[in-house]
Amino acid sequence: MPELPEVEVTRIGLADRLHGARVRSVHVGKPLRWPLGVAPRTLHDLAIGPLSRRGKYIWMPLQGTKRSGGLLWHLGMSGSLALHERDAPPRGVHDHFELISTAGVLRLTDPRRFGAVLWSDALDVPPALRLLGSLGAEPFDAGFTAQALHTACRSRRTSIKAALLAGDIVVGAGNIYACEALFEAGIDPRVRSDRVSRPRADRLAAAVRATLARAVALGGSTLRDFRDAHGAAGEFQLEARVYGRAGEQCVRCDGTVRRIVQGGRATFFCPGCQRR
Ligand SMILES: [Zn+2]
Repeated sequence: MPELPEVEVTRIGLADRLHGARVRSVHVGKPLRWPLGVAPRTLHDLAIGPLSRRGKYIWMPLQGTKRSGGLLWHLGMSGSLALHERDAPPRGVHDHFELISTAGVLRLTDPRRFGAVLWSDALDVPPALRLLGSLGAEPFDAGFTAQALHTACRSRRTSIKAALLAGDIVVGAGNIYACEALFEAGIDPRVRSDRVSRPRADRLAAAVRATLARAVALGGSTLRDFRDAHGAAGEFQLEARVYGRAGEQCVRCDGTVRRIVQGGRATFFCPGCQRR
């Protein structure tokens, strides 16, 4: 499943190439998770602004003389975006949305169709507001501080791993990244959120940021072409220090990486380095 770093790599790969292009037409294929919300022809001739990201959503501002707003893109469980600058291959059976622009054909390929492309007049009105309003802080924004993380954790009794995965404190700490960040911070994933001390919250906030930044950098540095964004996740997995390494020796101590299940998800950690 595309996580925040893969979505960010996708955004970075597309932003400059699409900025300033104009929409020529739109092709809507089989239904995605949510309908587009406007007649496709009303998008014709709108100019594409700078792409931004909120959580796992990419926002594409669209500006015209009669209408302005934008499209919110989500890759769902299995989606990927590719921009074909010339000679786009024929549409495949899983290509369910296509934005034909003066910069090329932007195509959403999504076999499971949990992805979505939907119109919103702005980010702070529905439907964008409904989807983005309850998201936690952006890990790379100044608003995500150790203080904010600590305060949010104090009102929860779930494990710290579950608190990270919930996405309403900070976005982006999906299963792999939550495991890795907790390892970096030296915190046992089973620790109750309200027992995480302020110094540990400091380390955890820094670890979440660093882990996600590293994943974005690996995606960006190993892949010139955003179409391989899923390969970036694979690259990060190869470099993961605990995730997927059950039974192997810890990279930091003589201990062995353990695998447990929390809330139905696999957790990997080192009982030697990560303390209760
Ligand atoms: Zn260890």
